[in-house]
Amino acid sequence: MKALVYEAPEVMNIRLVEPPAPGPDEVLIRVAYSGICGSELSGFLGQNSLRTPPLVFGHELGGWIESAGEHVPVSTLEPGTPVTVNPLVTCGTCRYCVTGRQQLCGRRLLLGASLPGCNADFVAVPAASVLPLPATTALRDAAMTEPAACAIHAVETGGTGPDSIALVVGAGPIGLFLLQVLEQYGVTERYVAELNPARLAMARALGATPVGGDGDIAGDVLAATGGLGADVTFDAVGTAETRRACLSATAAGGRLLLVGLHSDETAFPVNSVIRSEVSLSGVFAYSPADFHTALDWLGSGRIGLRDGVVEVPLDEGAAWYARLVAGDGASKVLLKPDHPDATEAARQGAGR
Ligand SMILES: [Zn+2]
Ligand SMILES: [Zn+2]
Repeated sequence: MKALVYEAPEVMNIRLVEPPAPGPDEVLIRVAYSGICGSELSGFLGQNSLRTPPLVFGHELGGWIESAGEHVPVSTLEPGTPVTVNPLVTCGTCRYCVTGRQQLCGRRLLLGASLPGCNADFVAVPAASVLPLPATTALRDAAMTEPAACAIHAVETGGTGPDSIALVVGAGPIGLFLLQVLEQYGVTERYVAELNPARLAMARALGATPVGGDGDIAGDVLAATGGLGADVTFDAVGTAETRRACLSATAAGGRLLLVGLHSDETAFPVNSVIRSEVSLSGVFAYSPADFHTALDWLGSGRIGLRDGVVEVPLDEGAAWYARLVAGDGASKVLLKPDHPDATEAARQGAGR
């Protein structure tokens, strides 16, 4: 099969490799769409210790069951079934796994980081991680379940309600989903900061009010809210600059949700956290419940990226990682393996 292999910083090549053989409790998935995640860009640049070459990236996918290991009940996962996958593989037995917080499992593994990912014709995953798609859900949307689930988890953690004033910094895929999920939670007063004009236009189309065009995010939010600030602030970037701007823009007694992972360490005015009783919350990934909610909401059209989604052949993947690093304004890039080996019947039978 073809796989897009990360071989060195900024070097990815298409290689012909053996397709993975699914273990007894695994399934093999024929990948239809594999999304490029913002969290992978630092890996592409060689700046992420979790991603060491050689590695096949990719953890956001839609595809079809190709085959299943001997312990997998065929009745639930027949070949040809359209599916998506929760890419966080966890132990299932620790204190976090048994209380619905699998994202905190100390033994968690992530597809495309600690396991081979889906930037390939096929990927093998545990059968327990597979979610068959509701009839209304297109494979293309299913490939965006993972970033949507991240946004749902962040908004849930924020304790956000209809009266909340919200600020989202960064309108990449996560930021755009955050704005949509906030709308689902009844939050009408939503501010957004984003430097890329194409992404800012998409955020504006979702009803968000742009701030920080002059570089002063907090100043604009304070001016727009009568000096109050935002009740909930989401930093979907994670640089020192955005973290400090988010803190300055957060109302006293409000909450700052740290979502973006750009910088490991940031100097931060902790005394103003104390004096204004701002709650700082790290939010990482999603629980399985968030993942199910995301798939439901994408299928029913409550949320979904429509503008700015780019579909490209897997062969062009390396060029698209480079373009995204350089600041391309796509809302999501979906890589498509071409599957020349698939019979026409298999393609048709796979349906969507
Ligand atoms: Zn992702
Ligand atoms: Zn666990």
